[in-house]
Amino acid sequence: MAEFSIIDTYFNRKNANSVDLGVGDDSALLTPPPQQQLVICADTSVAGWHFPLDTHPHAIGWKSVAVNLSDIVAMGAKPHSILLALSLPQIDHGWLKGFSQGLYDCCDQFGVSLIGGDTTQSPHLTITVTALGWIESGKAVTRSGAQPGDFICVSGTVGDAAYGLRHLGHPLQKRLDYPSPRCQLGQQLKGLATSMIDISDGLAQDLGHILDASNAGAIVHLESLPVSPEVAKLEQEKKWQLALAGGDDYELCFTISPHNYQLLMQQKLDVNLTIIGQITQNLGLTYLQNGVNCSIQFHGYQHFA
Ligand code: ADP
Ligand code: MG
Repeated sequence: MAEFSIIDTYFNRKNANSVDLGVGDDSALLTPPPQQQLVICADTSVAGWHFPLDTHPHAIGWKSVAVNLSDIVAMGAKPHSILLALSLPQIDHGWLKGFSQGLYDCCDQFGVSLIGGDTTQSPHLTITVTALGWIESGKAVTRSGAQPGDFICVSGTVGDAAYGLRHLGHPLQKRLDYPSPRCQLGQQLKGLATSMIDISDGLAQDLGHILDASNAGAIVHLESLPVSPEVAKLEQEKKWQLALAGGDDYELCFTISPHNYQLLMQQKLDVNLTIIGQITQNLGLTYLQNGVNCSIQFHGYQHFA
């Protein structure tokens, strides 16, 4: 089966939203909504590196999309569509069926269309998804707006994906394989949060990016970190290691003024939020355990490290 027949069989379904021209021509065409900025990002996964070779293809498809939607919504934007660049070592119909189904399941859940891509052969299974979204001009929530006195908040729980990776077969493996991009929350935070990032490399490292970009510091209360019951049962060091440095959570970490936090709390949210600390003028990240200074250092995932 040639490249075109793979595209037609697996990657040419009906669009989930408004697309002027999708899969099938040299490029796709979209009409930008008036007064909106294009938000665009990409993420690559390499088999055997970003996921084990035997990961279920449906999960690989889901996650390839989810991690990109997470980056779009971490700007406060509405995801619109994706492009898929797929490099395959061989044609495996069972794999392609599961993968495309997982990819479309995630697209459908969040009203996103697959509008194009590229299909090639290569020795390594490599998946690059590019995601596009829209946001009212000037309204994007970047990493650089945190202000002293802002609350630092985290959605959901952190450390689950890292726990799942260490306990394959445990129900928390679902959090590793099927992350939920916080699409509703991200858009609700537009106009309210002062800065935002999605947690892909571990809370400590990702909050560090907000602090660097905002030229600010933070106090984080270790006992406030939101963790699942399984993670809460671990010995303290281990628990914090997972919560602060375990990657792949795809929760949102954001800063917000106490006033705007009250406004946010008046809205209906589809995920729990936890205040874990506060932004300070003094630079650096200080951890407190029940009010007492705690000198721990956690670093998240880094390529080429
Ligand atoms: P070109 O040779 O002009 O680059 P291709 O033959 O690579 O075009 O692709 C044909 C069409 O199929 C294009 O619209 C392209 O965006 C789309 N396409 C190719 N691979 C994929 C894929 N894996 N998923 C979705 N669309 C794809
Ligand atoms: Mg062409």
